Amino acid sequence: MTAKPAVRLRATVFLLVLALVAPQLWAATAPADPARYLNDVRKLADPRMEGRGAGTRGLNKARDYVEREFKRLGLEPAGEAGKYTQWFDVTVGAKLKGKNRLAATVSGKEEKLKLREDYVPLTFSASGAAAAPVVFVGYGASAPEFGYDDYMHMDVKDKIVLVLRNEPPGFQQKSGNQGPTHHALLITKAINARVHGAKAVVLVNAAPGKGEEDLLMKFGQAGPEDAGIPIVQVKRAVADRWLGAEKTSLDALQKAIDEKSQPDSRSLPESMKVALEVDIERIHKQVANVLAYLPGKTDEYVIVGGHYDHLGRGGQSSLAPSLVGQVHPGADDNASGAAGVLELARLFAAERGKLQRGVLFMEFAGEELGILGSSWWVKHPTRPLEKAVAMLNMDMIGRIAGGKVFIGGVGTGSTLKALVEGAVPKHQLTVDYSASGYAASDHTSFVTQKIPVLFFFSGLHSDYHKPSDTWEKIDAASAARLLDLVAELTSDLAGDTARPQFVRVETDQRPAGGGGGGYGPYFGSIPDFGQVETGVKFADVRPGSPAAKAGIKGGDILVQWNEMQIKNLQDFTFALRKSKVGDVVEVKVLRGSETMTFKVTLEQRK
Ligand SMILES: [Zn+2]
Repeated sequence: MTAKPAVRLRATVFLLVLALVAPQLWAATAPADPARYLNDVRKLADPRMEGRGAGTRGLNKARDYVEREFKRLGLEPAGEAGKYTQWFDVTVGAKLKGKNRLAATVSGKEEKLKLREDYVPLTFSASGAAAAPVVFVGYGASAPEFGYDDYMHMDVKDKIVLVLRNEPPGFQQKSGNQGPTHHALLITKAINARVHGAKAVVLVNAAPGKGEEDLLMKFGQAGPEDAGIPIVQVKRAVADRWLGAEKTSLDALQKAIDEKSQPDSRSLPESMKVALEVDIERIHKQVANVLAYLPGKTDEYVIVGGHYDHLGRGGQSSLAPSLVGQVHPGADDNASGAAGVLELARLFAAERGKLQRGVLFMEFAGEELGILGSSWWVKHPTRPLEKAVAMLNMDMIGRIAGGKVFIGGVGTGSTLKALVEGAVPKHQLTVDYSASGYAASDHTSFVTQKIPVLFFFSGLHSDYHKPSDTWEKIDAASAARLLDLVAELTSDLAGDTARPQFVRVETDQRPAGGGGGGYGPYFGSIPDFGQVETGVKFADVRPGSPAAKAGIKGGDILVQWNEMQIKNLQDFTFALRKSKVGDVVEVKVLRGSETMTFKVTLEQRK
């Protein structure tokens, strides 16, 4: 309790200077405790939490842990029905049901194929049956930008198309890409087949390289979205037996295409028929956001949030595909941010009723599936949205290198940049700023509701989304310094200061999905990240964009693009990629119960 006089004197002078520079505030909370913080990270990233995958027991344990802590701190429940939790439904995967079958009739003889040995449905296949002649359509690519179309002159309406994986060898080079173009994506092939009127897709591996095996994909590997058409993969040997009816082989056909970079599509004889049925059940689980409230003197409040879910044992988002099945502990992503929310809750618990505004602590689920938890909350807010002054999101704050952190969103509120710049020098951190509030994390949900945001992030690293993202790599001392900064900003925003006004930031950093990405012409919508039955819901449209000029608004659900029905975000992405700058596109949207048609002139992406 005693300090040496010299030290005390210097501290006093320092505080005096500070008081002169920033007379209004800072103090409120005790500093963050690195050891206590690291203990939370360690608990959340423990193997017993199973990587906190959606719908796992591990995620439930993490939820209980967070809830117990909020309760112990005496914070008020701020979920639903007087609880700390807010439940919502997510699709976490798919399973094969009993009716999957595939048979081929070649010159009068029927061959029944074996599930998982000869063929397998893809995870994003639609359920359904088809029996039809087969058309081989090469790589299944329609790429006018490269003067290439496997479907040219082919009538595939009500047929089953046989498609090679990958893409013609010249595409990558012509595109200037580092890797394959989107024509190599399975979802692109599936949608392209669907818009050409095919009934089902049969996929085969391209010719395996030396020493490679012709493997079927593992069901469950490629994500739960429904492509809107049945799609199965067969072994090359199976397809070769079918092509025998045409006296050719996959090798020969692929070689012909690859050598000339020209399609070599062909219909197989009518006598050759394939009958298939795909029967898939999507698995839904209930997961919960965990919410706690620290009351202030008024009903306005500041939100401090982070997501506590991660990838579980990997799944489609793993960046170590060969290690899928191992626990991905997600210490930095985002035990580090979730523990940060807990530590801030501790620092503020004693401030109950003392601050001008309240603080709402939010631990989100479903972030890794597409910021579903925060999307759900802003649509079903447990406190009035208009009373939310700002949202501070921490996603990956545990790997601060060289004292450097990234703070996004400083342009989204009128006072934020000045506030942050005023606070940063006290915390031995170097900061990179971004004005925009869009990024693939939960604060984006709040930007779409015109709530100013700040996003705290310590940067990507080679353990990101891998089993090696473990707790002992977390730099707790640096994270605690950042937490002190976040605490200061929280207490500033919750204090007796003017409320920041929301500012729309025009930016190149567009969210993933239909509104952005670096492809195709510019449309200008911001997709809503929640799940809708069919179509693409827009959270907002950018002012001055083609969509805005045409009269499209936030809340509209896009269901048609020229002749193409839009079932999901992939369809929209596909349609946009197929369009050109200057095209006038007729789109249909649902607005409430009304269907409205707009003509949108696509522009150059800037
Ligand atoms: Zn994350």
